[in-house]
Amino acid sequence: MSRTPLMAGNWKMNLDHLQGTLLVQKLDWTLRDANHDFGAVEVVVCPPFTDLRTVQTLIDGDKLELKHGAQDLSVHDSGAYTGEISGAFLAKLGCTYVIVGHSERREYHHESDAVVADKLAAAYRYGLTPIFCVGEGLEIRKAGTHVSHVLEQIKAGLAKLTPEQVRSIVVAYEPIWAIGTGEVATPEDAQEVCAAIRTQLAEMYSGDTADGIRILYGGSVKSGNIASIMAGEDVDGALVGGASLDPTEFAAICRYQK
Ligand code: PEP
Repeated sequence: MSRTPLMAGNWKMNLDHLQGTLLVQKLDWTLRDANHDFGAVEVVVCPPFTDLRTVQTLIDGDKLELKHGAQDLSVHDSGAYTGEISGAFLAKLGCTYVIVGHSERREYHHESDAVVADKLAAAYRYGLTPIFCVGEGLEIRKAGTHVSHVLEQIKAGLAKLTPEQVRSIVVAYEPIWAIGTGEVATPEDAQEVCAAIRTQLAEMYSGDTADGIRILYGGSVKSGNIASIMAGEDVDGALVGGASLDPTEFAAICRYQK
């Protein structure tokens, strides 16, 4: 089955709404200039919450083919949860995607697999497509138990979803030791875990479901390494942090085939 590659930029806590406007405009110009086929490689930006309204206005107003998503959402729908952002609000802002379970959320905000499962369910309540992040730390990688660790995260995270919901999920394999460190997993490392995830999904659901799910790699992706990462047959795109803050570099990542 052919899966449309997806390149998603995670801006993390960078760029205010004015800087975000410039980045989105430059990214769009650069891609259009190069006749980027957005149907062939989907391009998504995930700015901070406070930029979403501006990015939405830009995308809708100028009919851009980029999509936008958020970096997190609340498990709750509404109520007395100071500082939280509901999936309902993200849907109103036209978000297509939402990142769930990023390792920085798991580490700094103590998000357990159970919380991640609730967040995935919350995303589907509002028609958002989750980019569900999994990945191992350095200790686990050194111990050689990275595949089983990641597969446990997959099982626990998907626990509250229906098989129908799982069909549209995007999974991002992000080894924590490769995030923001300049240390990139080898293409073989990325393919090994992405293939194991797909096999696991086939066991849990069906071969058809597993074949349709896009599995991204994330961790120090740049224009210089994206082609080799994408060579893995189970790697369907990238979740890009640092390099997504430079529109020329991110556009080059999105055009990895050229
Ligand atoms: C990320 O934040 O998801 C990420 C992969 O970051 P970086 O590309 O900077 O390693």
